[in-house]
Amino acid sequence: MLTDYHLHLRPDEPDASPADYFTVDNVERYLEAARSAGIEELGVSEHVHRFVEALEIWDHPFWILNARDDLGHYCEFVRSTPLRLGIEMDFVPGREDAIASVLDRYEFDYVVGSVHFLRDKAVDWDVYDIWDAAGDADRIWQLYFDTLAEAVRTGLYDILAHPDLVKVWGSARPAPERDLRFYYEPLVEAIAEAGIAVEVSTAGWRKPVAELYPADAFAEMCVDAGAVFALSSDAHVPEHVGHEYDRAVAKMRDWGVEELCVFERRQRRVEPLS
Ligand SMILES: [Zn+2]
Ligand SMILES: [Zn+2]
Repeated sequence: MLTDYHLHLRPDEPDASPADYFTVDNVERYLEAARSAGIEELGVSEHVHRFVEALEIWDHPFWILNARDDLGHYCEFVRSTPLRLGIEMDFVPGREDAIASVLDRYEFDYVVGSVHFLRDKAVDWDVYDIWDAAGDADRIWQLYFDTLAEAVRTGLYDILAHPDLVKVWGSARPAPERDLRFYYEPLVEAIAEAGIAVEVSTAGWRKPVAELYPADAFAEMCVDAGAVFALSSDAHVPEHVGHEYDRAVAKMRDWGVEELCVFERRQRRVEPLS
């Protein structure tokens, strides 16, 4: 089977309101796109920073600007559709209890764990750009992968989103000098210990880096460590549902992956990849 669990029903612009995008018609556009891509399980995972509850976790100016919607209304809407209910929940170091408290209030099918910020600087957005602020590439990569490993070890998450997002800018930012396996290794160890599913995200092919998340070497280390995988497009529009899935499935087979994770009420099972 095929899944697409990391989806957003609206683009990232702050004025893209639930009234315009959390609609039966819009969901039908996503379902139709999934049907034509042969995807059986579709789930939505809106960014936590869109919801007022996010401010219990963090007071970053970007979150304050975006946190307008009610998380309960979102959950209720998604439950009224055939979509699985997820959320893309940033990891904010030191705020584990606040994150758990927000997650505990709703019955999600799965929680997607992301690191978009290192301290208050963004990895994949040039407004609060980490690359303007912090030293060399090796330091940034180290901090990114350390933070991701910390997120994995909290046990708060079911799926580790776009696990090498730090490469997003490709050649537009400096590359680390060290062999990248040096950065992958401690994270792969955390993944194996925590048993979290690693997201294969075709969004990387739409970004400046033009590469799948995760990179081949990283994915192969995950396979060797016995990790399990989830497949997603990180679509923000229906046209991106199942984006480049043929290519992603071929990659996964090359890595030796034969199964995909399926989630329901935070219970996981695996299904053959097809
Ligand atoms: Zn993300
Ligand atoms: Zn996303």
